[in-house]
Amino acid sequence: MNEVEIEGLARRAEMPVDEFLKIYTKRVGKRVSLRERENGDCVFWHKNVGCSVYEDRPRQCRTWPFWNSNIETPEDWERTKKSCPGSGVGRVYTVDEILAQSKIIDI
Ligand code: SF4
Repeated sequence: MNEVEIEGLARRAEMPVDEFLKIYTKRVGKRVSLRERENGDCVFWHKNVGCSVYEDRPRQCRTWPFWNSNIETPEDWERTKKSCPGSGVGRVYTVDEILAQSKIIDI
């Protein structure tokens, strides 16, 4: 997440940024990432509710599944569909829409 995303989520959680970082995030190399529960679910994912911060979710979430690493080859896309049941179903996106999403964050 970048600073804007962190500040937005901290504001939503009604806590100072440093407290939000301590409670809800972890370092991954030089990056800051949301923590996961023991089962791998995001800390903001709640069964029967879904994402509790949906309107302020980070770019990584907003652009899923159209990450470069997921769409570079047909094999990448097949792997993505297998790992996420929500990928490859629902509304059909145009190539331009997909490419625009893939340029928002390089994953
Ligand atoms: S959309 Fe992002 S912030 Fe929301 S539950 Fe999923 S991983 Fe977490």
